[in-house]
Amino acid sequence: MAEEKNLFKIAQLQLDEAAKFLKLEPKLHKLLREPMRVFKANLKIKMDSGKTKTFSAFRVQYNDARGPCKGGIRYHPEETLDTVKALAAWMTWKCATVGIPYGGAKGGVVCNPKELSILELEKISRAYIRAFWKYVGPDIDVPAPDVYTSGREMAWMLDEYEKIVGHKSPAMITGKPLALGGSLGRDAATGYGTVICIREAAKHLKIDLKKSTAAIQGAGNVGGWTAKLLQEKFGTKIMAISDSKCAIYSENGLNVEKALAHKEKIGQLHGFMGTKCITNEQLLELEVDVLVPAAMENQITKENTRRLNCKILAEAANGPTTKEADGILKRTKIFQIPDFLCNAGGVTTSYLEWVQNRMGYYWKLDEVNSKLDEVMTKAFWDVTNFAGKNKIPMRVAAYALAVQKVAEAMKLRGLA
Ligand code: NAD
Repeated sequence: MAEEKNLFKIAQLQLDEAAKFLKLEPKLHKLLREPMRVFKANLKIKMDSGKTKTFSAFRVQYNDARGPCKGGIRYHPEETLDTVKALAAWMTWKCATVGIPYGGAKGGVVCNPKELSILELEKISRAYIRAFWKYVGPDIDVPAPDVYTSGREMAWMLDEYEKIVGHKSPAMITGKPLALGGSLGRDAATGYGTVICIREAAKHLKIDLKKSTAAIQGAGNVGGWTAKLLQEKFGTKIMAISDSKCAIYSENGLNVEKALAHKEKIGQLHGFMGTKCITNEQLLELEVDVLVPAAMENQITKENTRRLNCKILAEAANGPTTKEADGILKRTKIFQIPDFLCNAGGVTTSYLEWVQNRMGYYWKLDEVNSKLDEVMTKAFWDVTNFAGKNKIPMRVAAYALAVQKVAEAMKLRGLA
């Protein structure tokens, strides 16, 4: 049978496994297998050429039993509604895992940002808000950046939203630039949270990160910060890091800061001094202590799982591992930090940003990071201890804890 690569089907299969473990009532299980609301729009954009082009856009609100929906917006040429639905489901479980008072949502626009001018990107971002403004807001659904969006897009979206509603509303979106009410630490937060999970996993496995090696797939927001913080905070040797074009490798370890500066300057990692170019597939199979897929989904498959050569698999990307690969991983000694635990640092600091916006008082970086550390460390041990106690894989443990919390909120509201 062909390997399942549809992210939403994978998310449903993962939920089914947890529901079986929890003996979840069938009615509730059925409700949790589908999103609560799906919005679609065609964004008509006047391009720089003068021609009009239409872009498909989505917003999926998966579940809001625990609080307002929360989730990023992706700009990607291969974005599909099913991908957005899966990501919205994972946001629901993620917020529950770390115990922040949000439900889950996700958004996307099918477009290739690499082929768009800044003006065209601004028009798409503003059009997205004009299409969905009624369904987002600080107490309804709070967007944030994701793949190929950043503070720049959030600023355009906030501005468009405030123009429509006629008042300031910084808490309607997170991941904003600092000048518009963003939080210190938000930019690095997903990488920071990943590194906190790796730190705790290393303690659990009695691995000394100072004497360890790591390979990072992806050099964007998450991959870049994870690599940088692992190197800076723990002295871990970064053997390889990649972007969509190639992976750079050095047997002596590479200087992450300089490699990222090289990418910033010339647009790619390729050609960074003292490194050789390997493929993204080869990077995943390197013999390292810590492997961090931090780019796209479906990277660890039934085809390559047996060739993984790491002790800790820190899933910083969303959905990097297929269901079949999970089945194989269960039988190995690799310690897996499941995606919606591993990458929950971003939404946790987004929550801290939302809290600061609502009270109108802003914390120093140390305060934000120490709150993030507390939340991530607790979530890591909640999941790890539950997995150990019940002798179940880490992903099933994370799901079971999260689904229980969402189910309880639904029952209390009389929704199930
Ligand atoms: P980004 O756009 O900043 O970076 C993506 C990186 O992946 C880039 O370096 C790009 O070159 C690389 N890439 C793209 N296609 C690739 C491929 N086929 N092979 C290898 N590398 C490839 O995105 P990001 O925000 O760093 O997000 C990365 C992952 O982390 C995604 O799965 C995203 O959903 C997840 N995530 C992001 C956040 C966040 O706060 N940004 C939070 C949670 C999860």
